[in-house]
Amino acid sequence: MAAKRGPAPRRGILDIAPYVPGTSALEGGCPAIKLSSNETPFGPSPRAIEAYHAAGATLSRYPDGSARPLREALSALHGIEPAKIVCGAGSDELLNLLAHAYLGPGDEGIYSEHGFLVYKIAILARGATPIPAPERDLTTDVDAILARVTDATRIVFVANPNNPTGTYIPANEVKRLRAGLPNDVLLVLDAAYAEYVRAPDYAPGAALVDTTHNTVMTRTFSKIYGLASLRLGWAYCPPDVADALNRIRGPFNVSGPAIAAGTAALQDQDFVARAADHNALWLKRVAKELAALGLGVTPSVGNFLLLHFPEGGGRPAPDADEFLHEHGIILRRVEEYGFPHALRMTIGTEADNRAVLDALAAFLGTAVRARA
Ligand code: PMP
Repeated sequence: MAAKRGPAPRRGILDIAPYVPGTSALEGGCPAIKLSSNETPFGPSPRAIEAYHAAGATLSRYPDGSARPLREALSALHGIEPAKIVCGAGSDELLNLLAHAYLGPGDEGIYSEHGFLVYKIAILARGATPIPAPERDLTTDVDAILARVTDATRIVFVANPNNPTGTYIPANEVKRLRAGLPNDVLLVLDAAYAEYVRAPDYAPGAALVDTTHNTVMTRTFSKIYGLASLRLGWAYCPPDVADALNRIRGPFNVSGPAIAAGTAALQDQDFVARAADHNALWLKRVAKELAALGLGVTPSVGNFLLLHFPEGGGRPAPDADEFLHEHGIILRRVEEYGFPHALRMTIGTEADNRAVLDALAAFLGTAVRARA
């Protein structure tokens, strides 16, 4: 007799809460200031746009399957080995490929409590067990991660800096984490926001990839390079890990326009430097002004801030979110990251930032009057 039920997905798949992206538009299509997905306010370099358009002439051809021109440009810029670079359709794809290659049922993957949500999804998608490690002061806690290592641990994901907190751990702490992990545990350092970080004790992780056989660094073109819609990321890996990823990735997983635009974007480091300078200035200013409004602000080294609304203060984060929508501003709700009382704000243009500060001042001013 034919089974009544249809095909069932593998164990773990239906335990996955789908990733909810930041809101991208307001109801009725009203124009909005969108600061919900940590995108750059400057868009991509004009050189990247030009290369993207030029790639239109060869759309009928498959792209270079190993993204060679892009890997060579990354190698020249960062002083790293092209053979150890694997490109992907966003770093999301690479994080999933790493989970695919190194995790299966019965295995455990560790990530920090408020870590980027894709790690948990990638672990569950393999039928493996996600193990969150508590943080200290909303920051990755190396000792808490090491305390959760078991014989079943196969992978540790650390976003450095982390999204949505914006906090980071210094290079010596990353080294201590690596030294404390067993040799057969892969450490994945997700440095999606590395270009924004000014802290002198920070390192994205390439040096650790070169000096160990079990550490990977992932990077993206979606943030400071302004190419989020093209879907482009890369991983810097020990040779054995690159070999594993190259066996399971799609043979043409990165499109020709993405390779062309990414390669051109790397040539315009003045553009990157200007975006980083703008961010450093406004990150500091906005954090200071938000704190002056009475909000809690987690110290961030990225291009975004986590704002904490007073608990039980009569003006909770969801109300602020609604108020901001009414004023044409979209920030990011972060309940699913364990922050029901917070919103995440991407640093925008000067006008964007001022609009948010003015709107929040109005929102909180109302709260003060309402309580008085
Ligand atoms: N890692 C972190 C920490 C992120 O915040 C993001 C984007 N939200 C990504 C990875 C994924 O970026 P993409 O897939 O666009 O490269």
